[in-house]
Amino acid sequence: MTAAALAKPGLSPIPRTQLWWEAVERGELLIQRCASCGSYQFYPRVLCTRCWSEDLGWVQAIGSGRIWTFTVVRMPGHAAWAPDVPYVIALIELDEGPRMMSRVVDSDPREVRVGQRVRVNFRRLSPSESELPVFVVDAADGP
Ligand SMILES: [Zn+2]
Repeated sequence: MTAAALAKPGLSPIPRTQLWWEAVERGELLIQRCASCGSYQFYPRVLCTRCWSEDLGWVQAIGSGRIWTFTVVRMPGHAAWAPDVPYVIALIELDEGPRMMSRVVDSDPREVRVGQRVRVNFRRLSPSESELPVFVVDAADGP
């Protein structure tokens, strides 16, 4: 079996993240907002990380942010991603504040920079994969 024929490991949604994955399938990026203190957080948790309230709800993120840090993957951790290298994994700081790990797509990895403005997009990166939120560098902030 060649690396290209290997299936990528799938997702494992849990009850707490099920709504989030359903939103991704609709092309929406959700984050949690605390009704007690108004702070936002990602990834989904049962308590607010600022005030410990359990009064959390989902809101649709603006979908924009900036690259807080990134790496270029040249040696994948699983053989199924070998055809994708090199690719960019970044920590995106959303405009609401939370940071989320994602891929930066449609850019030459050599031109990705910390601080670049990005916007969420939704892609099925291969036929066997689920829809995932990825980020694209804003045209105004590209190379
Ligand atoms: Zn709170």
